[in-house]
Amino acid sequence: MGVIVYGSELAAERKAVMKEKLAVLKKSGARMPCLAVIMAGNDAPSLSYIRAKEKACAYVGMDSRMFTLPADCTQLDLEDVICRCNEDGGIDGILLQLPLPDGLDAERALRMISPSKDVDGLHPINVARLQLRKPGFVPCTPQGVIYLLEKMGASFEGARAVVVGRSQLVGMPVSKLLLDRNATVTMCHSHTRNLAQITSQADILVVAVGSPKLITPEYVREGAYVVDVGVNRLSTGKLCGDVDTEAVLPKCAAITPVPKGVGPMTICCLLENTMKAYQEHMNA
Ligand code: NAP
Repeated sequence: MGVIVYGSELAAERKAVMKEKLAVLKKSGARMPCLAVIMAGNDAPSLSYIRAKEKACAYVGMDSRMFTLPADCTQLDLEDVICRCNEDGGIDGILLQLPLPDGLDAERALRMISPSKDVDGLHPINVARLQLRKPGFVPCTPQGVIYLLEKMGASFEGARAVVVGRSQLVGMPVSKLLLDRNATVTMCHSHTRNLAQITSQADILVVAVGSPKLITPEYVREGAYVVDVGVNRLSTGKLCGDVDTEAVLPKCAAITPVPKGVGPMTICCLLENTMKAYQEHMNA
């Protein structure tokens, strides 16, 4: 029987460390790190995500500033806010909440964010730094996946890792981080044939698709470490992942649940990246 490894618990441990560091900083009278969150429109899930980010900042004692724009704002309005955040010396990290309303160009907007404040790691310069193994900002969800695998006790060296999903946000960077840890990585996507045959070879299986309970026991190797990144809302209103957790649990060594799995780690890594940006700004 596998164990369920909660991202919420790991995130709480890591946030407690950050909270302590920030309390010391506060006492010293120094400027506190600050995360700017920019949101256009009023997409309900995005609103709940930014509230969770705001709450997490407040919990650890980090400043946060919200910039909200109407759904019918122009690209120029959005880029003007980004430029103001870039120039503001009191802001260390900038997060542009995605998806953007129709008509706005997310790729162009992401390119406007100063790479030194790009705590989501999505600016092409940070993407290139990850590819080249140079220091930069690693995207939050993929970094969270690695921390969860470490917590599970998975060994990367020479492991067969399979990543299902190849998005720029999750699948691609997770694969690169696993490769950098000397795993032998296979990436799968919507054109992959015989998915179960490939995933069932994996010592480490990361699933980031957005398809409820796609992964059932026949997709999983006995004793595998499974990280479920997917977040799907069922018609009942309940959230579920891409993995049928209950069915897969007896077969795997460890698995992350949905909710309380990768999601809290994404927010935790966002705070850690903001802290890193702050330290770099203070040392510049
Ligand atoms: P995405 O951009 O839509 O990418 C989905 C990927 O899955 C694509 O590469 C797609 O292949 C692949 N795919 C689709 N159907 C497939 C199938 N039947 N078999 C194999 N691969 C298939 O999504 P994303 O942004 O990576 O997000 C993936 C999931 O993670 C979503 O549920 C999202 O909500 C969740 N997520 C969670 C967090 C968190 O913090 N918890 C963060 C980010 C994302 P093609 O490339 O061929 O189209």
